[in-house]
Amino acid sequence: MALDNLVTSVATKLMAATSATSAQVSQDVLADLVASFGVDFSFLRYNDHAIRATKLIAEWPPRPDVPDPDPLGVVYFADADPIFAAAETAKEPVFFSPEPVPDDSDDSDDYQRRVQEASGVALPSLASVPLLSGDITTGALGFIKIGIKDWSAEELNALLAIASLFAQVQARVVAEDQLRYLAEHDDLTGLHNRRALLAHLDERLTAGSPGPVSALFLDLDRLKAINDYLGHHAGDWFIQAFAERLSEETGEGDLIARLGGDEFVVVPAGPTDADAALALAHRLQAVLRDRVTIGGEMLTRTVSAGVALGVPGRDTTSDLLRRADQAVLNAKNAGGNKIAVFTDEMSLKSEFRNDIELHLQNVIDAGTLILHYLPEVDMRTGEILATEALVRWQHPTRGLLLPDSFINVAESINLAGELGRWVMRAACSEFSGWQARGIAKDAIIRINVSPVQLVTDGFVESVADTIAEFKLDAKSVCLEITESVVVQDIETTRITLAGLKDVGVQVAIDDFGTGYSVLTHLKSLPVDTLKIDKGFVFDLGTNPEDLAIVRAIIALAEAFNLELVAEGVESPTAALTLLQHGCHRAQGFLLSRPIPGPAMADLFTKKVIPVDFSSAKRI
Ligand code: C2E
Ligand code: CA
Ligand code: CA
Repeated sequence: MALDNLVTSVATKLMAATSATSAQVSQDVLADLVASFGVDFSFLRYNDHAIRATKLIAEWPPRPDVPDPDPLGVVYFADADPIFAAAETAKEPVFFSPEPVPDDSDDSDDYQRRVQEASGVALPSLASVPLLSGDITTGALGFIKIGIKDWSAEELNALLAIASLFAQVQARVVAEDQLRYLAEHDDLTGLHNRRALLAHLDERLTAGSPGPVSALFLDLDRLKAINDYLGHHAGDWFIQAFAERLSEETGEGDLIARLGGDEFVVVPAGPTDADAALALAHRLQAVLRDRVTIGGEMLTRTVSAGVALGVPGRDTTSDLLRRADQAVLNAKNAGGNKIAVFTDEMSLKSEFRNDIELHLQNVIDAGTLILHYLPEVDMRTGEILATEALVRWQHPTRGLLLPDSFINVAESINLAGELGRWVMRAACSEFSGWQARGIAKDAIIRINVSPVQLVTDGFVESVADTIAEFKLDAKSVCLEITESVVVQDIETTRITLAGLKDVGVQVAIDDFGTGYSVLTHLKSLPVDTLKIDKGFVFDLGTNPEDLAIVRAIIALAEAFNLELVAEGVESPTAALTLLQHGCHRAQGFLLSRPIPGPAMADLFTKKVIPVDFSSAKRI
């Protein structure tokens, strides 16, 4: 091949090389060079200045029986022979060739000839052309010929051109590797990032790979508090210290990734069963739990861990991570600093949740939400004083679902507002229909409001609009809010409640007694009614502690001049006990289950639910 063509063909091949293919492409090019220059052997080496060594990248032809480790693989300049050593900083090609030996020579210089004669082996000539990037020598392209090799001026020019092509590929590969490093690692900690974790798990979970593959999901407890109280620098420092400790404690080949925030995933190298994964989680938890001092504050660093297993060929990466995530959630919910292993029960739960999430999106348009009503009666007379609208979802495959299984899912995917507006309109519409028929005239419709709704802009206006649209007397509508939300954001709540008062609706505090914390605000909030949480009512009459609490709530309601409703009256004993202590408004399964709208209308027509507590045990 003419030299011009050779350089062009080398350029074409090297141009196509990537980080992944560069070694193979380089080897192919070396084979061409060996043939074109008529040499016996050729090699490509890169310098690693960080460790002062030269590394073999490609060679041609391949050496037979390369020992492991290859003595030519990594050669440190410090203990290399002069030709290798020169490659550290050489800027110009270096040539070495055996001297032509005169036949009549008999002085001690004829060493080479004597060696050749004695061994029958010719000594090699060598050419080493530096790869340069600016004034840094980044590697060497080498050629060896057994015997004499003269390089013509054209050949030399071609060599220089080819060496510069190799240097370009090298620079590109380094840049590409750097880019990949950045793309696969987390800035703050230098650990792998989510993308790298996903790629690793995809590979580990391909069918035929050794399994099971385990994943440990670690979640730092209380990071939010550190960020909030000590600032983000402290939080970052905390995360870095944690990452360092994690790296120290895991083995080589284990993958550690930070998913962002305070979430880390460890994937042990090789197959790991549940026991081994759990043992590792315990070990990590033990070493990660220690005291750290940040800004003069001693903090205890604890971590919650979730363990899950995946079977290659059966489970996907997202299956495995979802399970580990679910497990760590359980560990956190159990109070933190705990370890949980993913179980089938969790699996059912998360499957259910996913399904709900999927279908809930269009449930509101599809008209599959319905309201049931729970009557509230005066237990002295049986008169129906109010009714509470309770939402249900007629699910396509799972039957009639109760709100506990979908309300919080709706909140987590930002559907609470839409769902709440639907409930508000549906309840007001049906209630106004009853009043138009002349029933439920003095009754109250109670509507549950989710915490998210309460702090949403425009909530008060939408309540006012709905009441106006259905021409209801605002006093006959009561919104129920839970105790926890009142306390969480007391200022917003205060403003919203004041707005609702202006509209004229009533407000009840639901599940009262479960938090106690609202007590301090009771006097200053415009609240009309307390609903005693059913947890205190179920066993009333047999449980003295519950009775003490209920009596305290009754006293409180009297002191603040609030209406009081007991929820969850299931037994005549509970009903009688409430009556004895002065609470006569109640709802509960003893009086009625939640019923569909038409059944509620029938009850309103009758006006009373017959009450008879004669079977009750007196205490
Ligand atoms: P809640 O507001 O405390 O509603 C009372 C719940 O207690 C209802 O459950 C009712 O069926 C149940 N209950 C009533 N009496 C008894 C009894 O004697 N024994 C027992 N074991 N249970 C009784 P449900 O319908 O499953 O509702 C659960 C919760 O879901 C409600 O608790 C409320 O917080 C929420 N919810 C219901 N409807 C809505 C709604 O439209 N919007 C919002 N945001 N939340 C709603
Ligand atoms: Ca309620
Ligand atoms: Ca309640």
